Amino acid sequence: MRSEPDEPIGAGNDAASEGLRSEKPDALPAAEKAAVLAEALPYIRRFSGKVVVVKYGGNAMEDERLARLFAEDIVLMRSVGMRPVVVHGGGPQIGDLMNRLGKTPEFRSGLRVTDAETLDIARMVLVGRVNRDIVSAINVHGALAVGLSGEDAQLIGAVARSPELGFVGDVENVNADILDRLLAQELIPVVATIGADVAGQSYNINADTVAGAIAEALSAERLVYLTNVEGLRKDLDDPSSRISAISAGDLQGLVDAGAISEGMIPKVASCVQALRNGVRRAHILDGRVPHVLLLEFFTDEGVGTMVEP
Ligand code: ADP
Ligand code: MG
Repeated sequence: MRSEPDEPIGAGNDAASEGLRSEKPDALPAAEKAAVLAEALPYIRRFSGKVVVVKYGGNAMEDERLARLFAEDIVLMRSVGMRPVVVHGGGPQIGDLMNRLGKTPEFRSGLRVTDAETLDIARMVLVGRVNRDIVSAINVHGALAVGLSGEDAQLIGAVARSPELGFVGDVENVNADILDRLLAQELIPVVATIGADVAGQSYNINADTVAGAIAEALSAERLVYLTNVEGLRKDLDDPSSRISAISAGDLQGLVDAGAISEGMIPKVASCVQALRNGVRRAHILDGRVPHVLLLEFFTDEGVGTMVEP
């Protein structure tokens, strides 16, 4: 931990600490604050030194205020000794730039058809912009985050998913060595999900899939998907049907029963695979809820959907 114990996270950087203070106009009475901190203590102990992979995407990423709160949560997690790894998507941002360039996005079963030009755009947006934005938001609080693409240090080995999708990749292998080294230096890796095949050809890979594969490679304690819905619904059309806890086996049952569609498919598939291969627990959380990561990790509140092996 770099900041002094009596300083807020980001102290030493006035802009950051001002930002933190101004987020809390309706501060709790001191006794309640103390109670919240006391409630957090066992969780802080439990997660100290543990790797937590967070897939960041959807609304949480597009809303400026939520993006700032996300960065604070990640910094706080790291400050209490957790080892967060951020894996991000950027579908809407890729779509935006394609529109501005006059290219019409085309999807087949939820996956973007990716010709050479679309790959170029995806790579520029994910690595050049979205990744930079997240790294910068975290580094407002200190010298903490390092951004990388799956092409860096052979992090993500990719293969083409299917010829008709073009340069849409699947994860063939994860070389977590670079992540281990960054984590050992107490840095926060922020991963853009472009992978490369053995010949150096790049592919765009679904970020949920990459998050699961990285969590597996790191034997992560937790794998978290931040998304734009309150959790996994038993019935997609019924917001009150959130499943609060489910086993990987029962989750596979829901897939087989057709209850999972669209963007939830890669989350659930990668989640089931990660849990079968050593990840301890996964959560699907609502990224629209301010500080949802802190709620999940440091309070008794059960938010979103928890998935256990
Ligand atoms: P993200 O940016 O988080 O990857 P996606 O749009 O790709 O967001 O995936 C989340 C979406 O999955 C939800 O908004 C919802 O429309 C859809 N979805 C499909 N089946 C379910 C389900 N059973 N429960 C919740 N959401 C579901
Ligand atoms: Mg998605």
